[in-house]
Amino acid sequence: MCSLVHNHTPSPHTDNPVSDQQNYQHRARKRFGQNFLRDEHIINRIVHAIVPGPNQTLIEIGPGQGALTEPLLDAAGRLTAIEIDRDLAAQLRSRYADKPGFHLIEGDVLDVDFATLAQGQAALRIVGNLPYNISTPLLFRLLQHKEHIHDMVFMLQLEVVQRLAAGPGSDDYGRLSVMMQYHCEVDMPFKVPPHAFVPQPKVDSAIVRLTPHRPSPWPAVDAQALATVVKAAFGQRRKTLRNTLKAVFSAEKMAQLPVDLGLRAENLGVDDYVRLAALVEPDGAVA
Ligand code: SAM
Repeated sequence: MCSLVHNHTPSPHTDNPVSDQQNYQHRARKRFGQNFLRDEHIINRIVHAIVPGPNQTLIEIGPGQGALTEPLLDAAGRLTAIEIDRDLAAQLRSRYADKPGFHLIEGDVLDVDFATLAQGQAALRIVGNLPYNISTPLLFRLLQHKEHIHDMVFMLQLEVVQRLAAGPGSDDYGRLSVMMQYHCEVDMPFKVPPHAFVPQPKVDSAIVRLTPHRPSPWPAVDAQALATVVKAAFGQRRKTLRNTLKAVFSAEKMAQLPVDLGLRAENLGVDDYVRLAALVEPDGAVA
């Protein structure tokens, strides 16, 4: 196993495999969120949205059976793939044995040290049709390494993409929207229907592009302070800020906050949350 992965030994495949609808050799494993892309048109659109090229440091999360890997590798000439499923990892290794630009990390992407991967390389371009069960923790983990990342292009559940991209006033707007938009520009090139995959997921999917701001449009604030304010405000999103923010600010500070306390969490923009985060005391914590 590659030294970039910490503490992971893939466990034996003990779950019941989901039968692959087209009798491919590999049987999709539910616990690894395996829905394989089969639609050539969609695959081409995703690759087109990524715009892979030489001299890029492309990282693919969850290459699976290589639907995206092959065209990406052809266009970029080198690619590092991270795959947890040992059967698929073995298949990929043998399939690309004659491609010196192909590198495989067999293990859990949540254990990968992205800072080490980026050492001495152009900023990372991270892509993938992500296993939906780990997408939110993975996104937060990647944000911790944003200084090493040029951009990320992912397939995610449509519902998650809508939350990432939502603006104030929308029902989808919440913690995920504010935290992601603080760090990245978010855009959704297109949606992908269930029939593009085998087996078919029960939900619609979408492509999202996340580009870390350079430079940031917001003044720098402590990410933990921002998380604290956003968590308090959206924790009870139907209540007014007068009610929710008192968990973070003293009565004296509440009187000086630069927002209308009669509003609710969904009415504030990312800029408002950044202003509030700058006023959090170092020990300000929400229970
Ligand atoms: N890229 C392929 C495609 O589009 O057909 C497969 C996508 S499938 C939705 C997700 C892939 O991520 C699977 O190959 C799965 O084994 C892999 N995977 C799941 N959890 C993972 C993890 N924690 N770390 C690395 N790979 C993972």
